Amino acid sequence: MERVYLTRNIPKAVSMLKEYFELIIHDSTKPPDRYEIVKNVSNVYAILCSPSDNIDSIVINAANKLRVISTYSVGYDHIDLASANARGIIVGYTPNVLTNATADLTFALLLAIARRVVEGDKLIRSAKWSNIYEYNFMLGRDLEGKILGIIGLGRIGAAVARRAAGFGMKIVYNSREKKNIYEYLSLDELLKVSDFVSIHTPLNEHTYHMIGEKELKSMKRCAYLINTARGKIVDERALIRALKEGWIAGAALDVYEQEPLVASELIELDNVVLTPHIGSATIETRERMAEIAALNIINPYKGLEPIYRVK
Ligand code: NAP
Repeated sequence: MERVYLTRNIPKAVSMLKEYFELIIHDSTKPPDRYEIVKNVSNVYAILCSPSDNIDSIVINAANKLRVISTYSVGYDHIDLASANARGIIVGYTPNVLTNATADLTFALLLAIARRVVEGDKLIRSAKWSNIYEYNFMLGRDLEGKILGIIGLGRIGAAVARRAAGFGMKIVYNSREKKNIYEYLSLDELLKVSDFVSIHTPLNEHTYHMIGEKELKSMKRCAYLINTARGKIVDERALIRALKEGWIAGAALDVYEQEPLVASELIELDNVVLTPHIGSATIETRERMAEIAALNIINPYKGLEPIYRVK
């Protein structure tokens, strides 16, 4: 029987895969380290991994029978595609099914930072709420009429734009290609005019630290940055300075440069909202992702195309 290594215990995927394969499961809430991954992948037909697992050339070279790398995510920046392609290894991923869940979380963050939801929650829990309805107490920002700048108008970016339209926001975007919808702006122009900037590009060599000191300084002082894409797209040191020194009004983040570590300077700030990489984390979405991640392994084993293959 062929073997599959799972870097997480994902019950739905396990129940589907065990009918065809012998499973090696890293059954822990913490991700496996590199040594553990390398040790377990020799002789496996497939690896089922997630974004925190670095599937680089060392892992791929250690897996001499590997046919499929299936990631439980739409992002595949943690997989060395060149090494996989050189060996003809299929890379499967889970686009589309997590688009709405991630767009919902993006909007939850946008609303939370604009209306100071977390600050208000913290105030009550620390028993410091004393004034009611004072005229400048906890004032936030309206969304109606504000400009939302979307960087990366793909599946998730477009789903965020649809939500923003419902709130009366004006949408501008930057992508590699112009689309026949909304207003296209260069990245420089988008950063200058937007009241909210939301990042939805993949992480790759072109987008690494795409938002740094220069970009943050070009934003409006009253603007907010939202990042639910990948932490390394933003230079976190520059962002911390921007938030401390008032180059921008605030940030709402689901992703960080060194997950699960979050810089203490970010944690100490009031003008940020932080969530722990939960963009796709709903019961329904994770169930569908698990199913697709499993089928992306089972299908090729049966001689069929995976459901979604990175091209
Ligand atoms: P997608 O459909 O491929 O959209 C990505 C968009 O980014 C595309 O429109 C692409 O433009 C644009 N883009 C690529 N390079 C760019 C660049 N250098 N400058 C400007 N735009 C660029 O992907 P998706 O499904 O929306 O997912 C986007 C990312 O979200 C994923 O890669 C993943 O890392 C992240 N994500 C995070 C979570 C979470 O839990 N926080 C959940 C899901 C996804 P063109 O169309 O013009 O080529």
